[in-house]
Amino acid sequence: MPVFGHDLYRLVKHRNLDPRSFTFICEQEQPDKVGFRLSGNGPTYGIALDKKDKLEVSQPCTFLIEEPDGSSHCGVYEDRPIACAAYPMAGAARRVVMMPAALCPPGAWAANEGDNPQWGIELRRLARYRDTYVEVVNRWNAWVESVPDVSRPPEHFVAYVLQVYERLAALDIQLGAEAVASIEQAWAWLPEDAPASGSSQDEPNWVAYLRRVREVIDQFFPDLPPLPFARIAIER
Ligand code: SF4
Repeated sequence: MPVFGHDLYRLVKHRNLDPRSFTFICEQEQPDKVGFRLSGNGPTYGIALDKKDKLEVSQPCTFLIEEPDGSSHCGVYEDRPIACAAYPMAGAARRVVMMPAALCPPGAWAANEGDNPQWGIELRRLARYRDTYVEVVNRWNAWVESVPDVSRPPEHFVAYVLQVYERLAALDIQLGAEAVASIEQAWAWLPEDAPASGSSQDEPNWVAYLRRVREVIDQFFPDLPPLPFARIAIER
């Protein structure tokens, strides 16, 4: 499961965990918009939830609690990554649909499960988390690429992410939980719902919020100028 910045910050903050205890950094086979670099010309990496025992696909998540009676449950349910909370649903053709490659057993979900409004809530949160993380990663990558011959340890990226989200948490406190919830639930989670550019006078509240998020992110690496606003209509 991928771990975005919000997820990492929440698990570290709420559970008092060392990021190294529950994540692993993996080179991306297919670079995407949340892939971060550790050197200017090097590959991109992602952060994922670690596995129990061995790092193999068949191994359970490090947070899975297995009971003696054979049942199991998530040990960090309230703070689980957003990719877990939204799984196995995705947005397609203006609807919530189950991912074709979902690993759930047959019959685990009703055929009309996508009509449950809770999935829309999770997918909008996923969109907010991901759009924010794209901006965070973009700034880091621009900094790494500005000195291409220097390699950075992954711990530096993780530390940067935690510092950014500490300041973003302060922004959310300043705005208030109700306002942030309203922004989140207005977030365009389908590419066709996103504005073509973020410069309209009548832009939605979530775009205005993302601009404030960018102001926070742009405080890092102050020698770098602000980057172009990342595309809002990213693939999901
Ligand atoms: S829901 Fe919990 S146990 Fe399952 S993958 Fe996510 S964090 Fe791990």
